[in-house]
Amino acid sequence: MVKATKKKWLGYDPWKDGVTQGILATYNDCNQKAKLAAKGHAPQKLGHALEWGIVAHLILEKLHKMQSAKPKKWSPEEGLVISTVHSVTERYKRRHGQRWNGERDQEFDHDVCQMIAVFPAYFNFWKKHPLNWVQVENTFAVPFRVPGFEKEIILRGKMDGVYSSGGDWLLDNKTKSQIVESQLGETLLRDLQINFYTLARKISSGRVPKGFLYNAIRRPGLKLGKNESMPDHVTRIKLHIAEDPESYFKRYEVCIEPSDLAAFQNELTGLLVEFLNWWKGGMPSRLFGQPCVGKYGMCENIAICYNETYTNHRMKEVMFEELLEDAA
Ligand code: SF4
Repeated sequence: MVKATKKKWLGYDPWKDGVTQGILATYNDCNQKAKLAAKGHAPQKLGHALEWGIVAHLILEKLHKMQSAKPKKWSPEEGLVISTVHSVTERYKRRHGQRWNGERDQEFDHDVCQMIAVFPAYFNFWKKHPLNWVQVENTFAVPFRVPGFEKEIILRGKMDGVYSSGGDWLLDNKTKSQIVESQLGETLLRDLQINFYTLARKISSGRVPKGFLYNAIRRPGLKLGKNESMPDHVTRIKLHIAEDPESYFKRYEVCIEPSDLAAFQNELTGLLVEFLNWWKGGMPSRLFGQPCVGKYGMCENIAICYNETYTNHRMKEVMFEELLEDAA
């Protein structure tokens, strides 16, 4: 695993740094966005939903790791879950809070209240369905042959977990403001991240995983009342979850057929040929017809692309900061 150290940005080289599903998805979305990421620009401030998801992953990682070291049926008690929420969120705030304004600071305090209500309920909800852990939060780097290039490229990423149930299953944690079942099901079979991780697992283990478990957690939508204290707000969220826990916690097991994975492997090969040639060609980008305003609002790079203003961005230390050991 790579240790985080203070580094000066040295530029992106896929042959040294590897390729993640994130940079490929960004390239698919907008090649200008991928170019900015490859030149080291990262937004100072992350979107609220994205940051909620990052912190939730860190909390799950800690608690799932504890579970993996205990007998299968062990589940953390409420007090342990709450103290873990506090330790993870306090650490996260110490590391990232200096980039926030006062409004984001308050919003984060509200996020912590939501997490104090959500995660004990999550572990309580699933305690009768324990997973037989093989690994939790596994950082991978596996070689992949791309036709037309001499060297193998390294596929990199971080899986949420692997458990065993008649073969390997991959865990994919997702946080959502709403869990819409009709939008899931078979559509997950075409999810780039899921397929990328499944293929990486096949390459590292030599076996096709049985499938993946889509582990969805809903982010509460309740607002803090005008005269409501934070502890009262936590109680209200807890009651809301207790009324309908199935709308907060859902898991879908999706089986993978070897033929599905072979089809993905072909598609990934084509995408990598295109991406690597694009990088080699100096990363030419298109500014017209890009998804600058999407379903989550304006792209975080608007100020750069429209006004050449970089003040809302910082320079990264390494290309894939999310893969550093202490990325939190
Ligand atoms: S602002 Fe538009 S062109 Fe620029 S990176 Fe975002 S989506 Fe791409």
